[in-house]
Amino acid sequence: MYEDLKREVIAAARKAEETGLCRPRSGNFSRIDDERKCIAITPSGIDRMTMTEDDIIIIDKELKILENKNDRKPSSESLMHVGAYEARPDINAVAHTHSPYALAFAIIEKPVPPVLAESGHLGCEKNMGYIPVAVYGRQGSQALADSVKLPLTKGDAMLLAHHGVMTVSGKGADDALVKAMYVEDICAAYYRAITVTGGMEPCIIPPADLQFKSPDFK
Ligand SMILES: [Zn+2]
Repeated sequence: MYEDLKREVIAAARKAEETGLCRPRSGNFSRIDDERKCIAITPSGIDRMTMTEDDIIIIDKELKILENKNDRKPSSESLMHVGAYEARPDINAVAHTHSPYALAFAIIEKPVPPVLAESGHLGCEKNMGYIPVAVYGRQGSQALADSVKLPLTKGDAMLLAHHGVMTVSGKGADDALVKAMYVEDICAAYYRAITVTGGMEPCIIPPADLQFKSPDFK
């Protein structure tokens, strides 16, 4: 009944680990279906390379478990995913990672400027292309779930203070994951840029240039 959602979530979770975005068992991924009123979410503490569809848990926004074939523990950060879906009815997937370069800026709570064209794919135009930082909330807490709501008014990506990265998409789990990859790429490039200049801030890409336009093909 939920197999399509489960397959999508597993594929994103595996790709995140294969590409180095997540350490084994860290990070979590979900996909909401408004018609079926359910959220497919990764379990806590299960190796995602051996994870099967039956390990993915189906919950609703009240955290009621609708299906849990292998009797797994839902992600401890389920509340945070629900908080994102409540804040943004236009999205259908959430990716959450603890990727290393992004963590550096999450720890010092520094919004990351638009230094690469990829910044234009994060929906952060309202924030001048900067990736915002959510205020600190303890992992698994309601405070953390609430903390993502304001940054989600500024775009589809954020750093979570002292914790990691959250990205969202209205185009499914793979698209949310791609945005998380872009966040890490931007943070890595920015980190290197300020390292070689001894901390000097680089120029940013003007907000108008962040709107990708393809050439007019004839
Ligand atoms: Zn986390």
